[in-house]
Amino acid sequence: MENPARRPIVAGNWKMNGSRPLVDLMQNQLEHADLEHLDVVICPPLPYLGLFKSSVTLGAQNMSHFESGAHTGEVSGSILKEFGCSYVIVGHSERRADNHESNANVALKVAAALNMKLTPILCVGESGSVRDSGKLFTFMAGQIDAVIKQVGIAQFSNIVLAYEPIWAIGTGKTASPAQAQEVHQFLRGHLAKQDPNIAANIKIVYGGSVKGSNAKELFSQKDVDGGLIGGASLDPKDFLSICLAAKQ
Ligand code: PEP
Repeated sequence: MENPARRPIVAGNWKMNGSRPLVDLMQNQLEHADLEHLDVVICPPLPYLGLFKSSVTLGAQNMSHFESGAHTGEVSGSILKEFGCSYVIVGHSERRADNHESNANVALKVAAALNMKLTPILCVGESGSVRDSGKLFTFMAGQIDAVIKQVGIAQFSNIVLAYEPIWAIGTGKTASPAQAQEVHQFLRGHLAKQDPNIAANIKIVYGGSVKGSNAKELFSQKDVDGGLIGGASLDPKDFLSICLAAKQ
């Protein structure tokens, strides 16, 4: 019997891509698809949030940990809520790299999102060199522990975890289903040391070069509850086939 708390979720991260026509195409496609029994989230660049109709579940790609004020170029959780967001991606590896977001910064953003009743999609994942060094699990534990320290384990019932190996993002080099499962199992086990119930019920999605052609095999792994999709989320047809692959 499937665990209803772990109803699959597929989120599309458009990054700094998209257009008004793509908003219309995606909107139209999602409206006409049978997406029962799964959650589909679109995370477009901020200005496009306001163009989607309320039938589409929206997420942002980042938010400030400040509530408001003199922080030019930033966006707050309350503004995201006003524009219909339910989710926010936090700690994406591109932001960790481009904007020097540390584990501690990411933890503060998770706390701010939770405060605003936004569901954080908390991204964790290793570079190729961390994997090669044999320190994969220590590294992953560090990324998770910084957030546990900030918000407490109980709050993980309001978080979606995304395992995104950096070496697989935008490279066309997908983790094998067995590699994804190994890390997802580790993450669930790591959380279980603090709270087995939270660990059993948290959704952990995989991200890294997921396409219509490899989604089913990845999503059928025991501890994989869907995907965070970059490049393929810009192609409505491919994105839909990924969504359908996640249906229970
Ligand atoms: C991402 O950026 O979250 C991602 C998974 O990208 P891609 O699917 O293009 O690898």
